[in-house]
Amino acid sequence: MTERRRRVGVLGGTFDPVHNGHLVLAEAAWREFNLDLVWFIPAAQPPHKLDEPVTSFAHRAAMLELALADQPAFAVNLMEQQRPGPSYSVDTLRQLRQQLGRDRELYFIIGSDAFVEITTWKDYPELFHYAHFLVAERPDSAPGHLNDQISSLPENFRHDPAHNRWSHPRGAFLYPLPVNAFLVSSTTIRRKLRAGEDISGLVPPPVAGYIRRHRLYRSR
Ligand code: ATP
Repeated sequence: MTERRRRVGVLGGTFDPVHNGHLVLAEAAWREFNLDLVWFIPAAQPPHKLDEPVTSFAHRAAMLELALADQPAFAVNLMEQQRPGPSYSVDTLRQLRQQLGRDRELYFIIGSDAFVEITTWKDYPELFHYAHFLVAERPDSAPGHLNDQISSLPENFRHDPAHNRWSHPRGAFLYPLPVNAFLVSSTTIRRKLRAGEDISGLVPPPVAGYIRRHRLYRSR
């Protein structure tokens, strides 16, 4: 990473497979918050999917590389592959914070469906020590829910309506991220592929080609 890249977005996920909703989300964060770079960080062992079959890390990472190949501001970061055990976001952000130093701003990008479960994440209050949060309303989530949820967190987030953000006592900001609705999930794509349905328009064409060539998602 060059010195110029000071505002770094982090989009963690299972990416099983990566789809256009992920790209729209990252683009919105990059544009709205002037990010220099967005890292897509695939979970080696997604903690909330330990009982479910997940496609191999190598396939998920290869699909990400294809999806991001023509996006100079987006890159795949394979750091979670190095850590044994479940891939907890708090460990990733702590490690990134150590690597990058204080002068780089980290923005953790997250969909509202994932954010509503944040209190179940490992050491979740610590997440707000390392990064600002950009929370995107997913098209299929109830509007207004996010405000209620932030108000109910025990962290004492202070609402700052003038800047349309909340501030954490330790200095992190939490911003709602407007995203042009893209109603797709990896679950939908896996279901369509299992049913032999077309997924063009939902994933970048090279990802569709990879899935076809490797005969992925035929049976789950
Ligand atoms: P699955 O259906 O397998 O649970 P997913 O489509 O939710 O997968 P993940 O890899 O789990 O994909 O998501 C990574 C991040 O991207 C999460 O923060 C999630 O909320 C967000 N995200 C996924 N799809 C969308 C979408 N269509 N719009 C906005 N955010 C999304």
